[in-house]
Amino acid sequence: MNKNKLEYRLRIAPSPTGYPHIGTVYQALFNYAYAHKNNGKFIVRIEDTDRTRLVNDAEEVIFSALDWVGLFEDESPRKGGEFAPYRQSERLEIYHKYAQELLDKGLAFFDYYPKTDATGKKKDYSAVAKTATEHTDIPPAPATVSDMLKSQDWVLRMKVPDEGTITVTDGIRGKITFDYKQVSKQILLKSDGYPTYHLGVVVDDHLMQISHILRAEEWIPSLPKHVLLYQYFGWEMPVVYHTATLRNPDKSKLSKRQGHTNVNWFREEGYLPDAILNYLALLGWSHPEEKEIFSLQEFIEKFDLNDIRPIAPIFDLTKLTWMNQQYIQNMSDEELVRALKRFYANDPDISHTIELLETNSNSKNLIWGLVKTRMEILKQFKQLAGHFFQEIPVEKSEMNKQIAQSLEKSLTDIDSWNNENILSSLKQILLNYKIKMPVLYTIFTGEPKGLPLPESLVILGKDKTLARVRKYL
Ligand code: GLU
Repeated sequence: MNKNKLEYRLRIAPSPTGYPHIGTVYQALFNYAYAHKNNGKFIVRIEDTDRTRLVNDAEEVIFSALDWVGLFEDESPRKGGEFAPYRQSERLEIYHKYAQELLDKGLAFFDYYPKTDATGKKKDYSAVAKTATEHTDIPPAPATVSDMLKSQDWVLRMKVPDEGTITVTDGIRGKITFDYKQVSKQILLKSDGYPTYHLGVVVDDHLMQISHILRAEEWIPSLPKHVLLYQYFGWEMPVVYHTATLRNPDKSKLSKRQGHTNVNWFREEGYLPDAILNYLALLGWSHPEEKEIFSLQEFIEKFDLNDIRPIAPIFDLTKLTWMNQQYIQNMSDEELVRALKRFYANDPDISHTIELLETNSNSKNLIWGLVKTRMEILKQFKQLAGHFFQEIPVEKSEMNKQIAQSLEKSLTDIDSWNNENILSSLKQILLNYKIKMPVLYTIFTGEPKGLPLPESLVILGKDKTLARVRKYL
């Protein structure tokens, strides 16, 4: 652990470059859980030093996603904390100081990197890892970092030994050896004065006294550079754990082209935050008693960093959806009503339906019984139950008119308005017209499928059912 050896301090360090990614929530969950397990702190640092990839509201949407799943941080740009600022773009002077330290120690060097190439084209210095040697008339190198910043034609790179190997340790995979020939002389400070990820992450993890680093395996290749930098500064390095990349069921890397990766998508579909966290916890970890459904609190108690497995976890939407359904079924009616109200807050019709459901005790139990057991995600509520209290769209056609005439006749004749009688009426109509259930569903509910139709019509009542049928006449 880090020098104070007192506190567990874990962090995520997202870059605000787009929509809130499910992988960020995954990392947040494991870091949060381990911090909380050990009465430590969970920190969110915003790594916004790649100015070319910044997206305006990306920081905001990251926090909104974390709030939604309930992984609240202890320190961050918005919360502040002992080690503020937590946004890297506000820490440039700090990086300049440490860049100068490496230069003074002879462990970093300036590389000529003019803003534009010979044709006047702007260079993307952030992407370049090799030393630029193609220049012939190189001006004298700056003497200090602040001179470098004035000219903006230079970058600062780290020195890397030419020969030999370096062995690094990953908490999940053990020792990994790299040949120095594979390790680039990484740019640490770009000519615009911003650090690259590598300088920023090492300096900040050290200064913010991060005790354990847990992040995605895509950063393993950076590890030798980071280990070297820790050595150069003479700092003790935290243990680093790299989780395996989330995969689609076909084993390809989870990407937005193949699956859903935007947290907002899950939110809009009506997945429950608790179900999402439960599902993510099982990717790369398993409950010691092989349990599938457990709370965040239970995860915090049972989880250990050393139990993470390096095998690539499959993100399977079908499984998550199943889990979501389990969560819905296990909710009390009151909890479900609350969740639905939040979910449909911007949909006045359906909010109204939910309120009616709450107050109309006659149909309430029946509907809850029918809906609750069938709803996988909250979005389906509207499709399943919306029509009970709403005008339904009426699609007039000759065919519908004829069916409606027959329906009116046979339903009017029913004396005892119950499942059995309604069902036999409907069956007869299906046979006579050689049609399938979706046609009848659409006539009665405006949707091609839904709750069992006879039960639904019992709830709706004979008068309302007939009134719907008559709209087609
Ligand atoms: N800024 C990096 C990212 O966007 C952080 C990687 C790390 O956790 O060190 O993923």
